[in-house]
Amino acid sequence: NGVMSKQQFQTEVSQLLQLIVHSLYSHPEIFLRELISNSSDALDKLRHLSLTDDEYKALVGNGIDSPRIDLELDEANKTLTVSDTGIGMNEEDLVSHLGTIARSGTKNFLTQLSGDARKDSNLIGQFGVGFYSAFMVADKVEVFSRKAGDDKTFKWTSDGETGFDIEEVSGANARKTAGTTILIHFNDEGAQYANGWRLQEIVRKYSNHIAFPIFLTYDKADWDAEKKESVKTRTTEQINAASAMWRRSKSELSDDDYKELYKSLTGGWEDPLFWFHTRAEGTLEYTTLFYIPAKAPLDLYQADYKGGVKLYVKRVFIMDDSKDLLPQYLRFVRGIIDSEDLPLNVSREILQQNKVLTSIKTASVKKILSELKTIATNDPEKYSRFIAEYNRPLKEGLYGDYANREMLLDLIRFKSTKVEGLTSLAEVKERMQPEQKALYYITGGSESMLRNSPLLEIYKKKGIEVFILDDDVDEIVFSTVTSYGDTDLKAVNKSSTSEDLKDDSTPEKAEELQPLLDKIKATIGAAVKEVRASSRLANSPSVIVSDEDEPSARMRQMMQAMGQ
Ligand code: ADP
Ligand code: MG
Repeated sequence: NGVMSKQQFQTEVSQLLQLIVHSLYSHPEIFLRELISNSSDALDKLRHLSLTDDEYKALVGNGIDSPRIDLELDEANKTLTVSDTGIGMNEEDLVSHLGTIARSGTKNFLTQLSGDARKDSNLIGQFGVGFYSAFMVADKVEVFSRKAGDDKTFKWTSDGETGFDIEEVSGANARKTAGTTILIHFNDEGAQYANGWRLQEIVRKYSNHIAFPIFLTYDKADWDAEKKESVKTRTTEQINAASAMWRRSKSELSDDDYKELYKSLTGGWEDPLFWFHTRAEGTLEYTTLFYIPAKAPLDLYQADYKGGVKLYVKRVFIMDDSKDLLPQYLRFVRGIIDSEDLPLNVSREILQQNKVLTSIKTASVKKILSELKTIATNDPEKYSRFIAEYNRPLKEGLYGDYANREMLLDLIRFKSTKVEGLTSLAEVKERMQPEQKALYYITGGSESMLRNSPLLEIYKKKGIEVFILDDDVDEIVFSTVTSYGDTDLKAVNKSSTSEDLKDDSTPEKAEELQPLLDKIKATIGAAVKEVRASSRLANSPSVIVSDEDEPSARMRQMMQAMGQ
């Protein structure tokens, strides 16, 4: 056997391990789901390569085994192996994949988790702890791996505390074909999982719809009628359904099937808020299954957010989280797109201009938005739970998705001067006063500041509803939205808007006031363009407004801050 090399974990890995082992992690059983999902990823990668890359094609049957995942339980010694015939890892891969955390989102997340948050297992659960979760149930983990196209097997060993060792292994320890075997030595907490029945239960719960067969080898207890006692026989049996569930018809599937698939897709244990399952047959044939998570992911607004949908072609996994599958503002949607019409060797570059995918994408966005609208109409209570999490990403859509703007305006909810809670534009429009010319909104500050703004006085006086946009994206987003259906949408702090509301009385004694106005202008100087008398105020002495084409005061501040 080769030379052993000892290495330290990256600081973040040590922190993560500390957190995993010492915080109240309520579901240690998820270690198995994490390891199986890594095996499934590794099998997906290899399957894709062996379909598209000649070098890998040649290896099938000769260094590459058929795809499967094997669990082998040794109850007496309290060990479990999780093996796959996937892509495998070489020495370098083992160091970088199982010794560091590459994603900056995970690092940020770790620094955020302080004090009480550490105890909130739900928070931890939202973010995949991945491979390292094995240390919740193990005091030692050994990884034997051989990379496809390579003939060396390397072994990675760690107690999850001090660091890890890597050495090359040979003989009985070497893998005959590519893939990875993970050997878990259960600790006291993990001993409960050294049980065949328990393992089957966990696999069915989290990993039933993994596309590859999962086999369990264990000592199966059977009643021997002759001997009148229970005898144990070493048995290997497949323990998951391994079907691409989304290809079955809706009528065959129960809510639990959908929830289970969601959990195995996303690695969470919360049920989704709702899902939309569609089979398209016609010029294009494809299946989509989209889920809306109950909670918006914590890292939704981070640049390296990973989520989105998975692309399959004829049930073969192609890629994860492609920015081209759904528009950016729908990045919170999880699920699957499975196409019959794309080539298997489709690359990311091809995807960007692929006509098939563009049609699927356009239809999928329409589908998701129209399903949301149906929920908004039929089940407002459920819809409000959706809005509590996703109103803001929908607003982002206003900025980029011009084609669906009207639909998005119907879906977004608003604060307003006339209702508690939230309201829709359709409702505001219904409540318009007979002489009201447009729909009005106010932006540029906190909710309480906006609600008390002197700009609203005239609207209150006239009984006109104004909606309050206090989200920091609102000002930028709504500056591009000028109508809702055939009704204009206007900001109250634009001078042309005040034309709409001209009081019948011109300001009294406007002429007499002129010398005072001149004096005020002279005192303030170049900071303002003009000082004039107005009838729009009821109680406040003065207010600042912008010209129509000019950026508003707040927007100017933001642009200055951005160095514009
Ligand atoms: P993630 O799966 O989110 O990337 P993990 O901590 O679960 O994070 O795994 C880290 C990395 O280790 C994976 O991205 C992969 O590169 C590698 N890895 C883990 N398990 C396997 C396996 N069974 N086969 C091949 N590579 C693996
Ligand atoms: Mg993983």
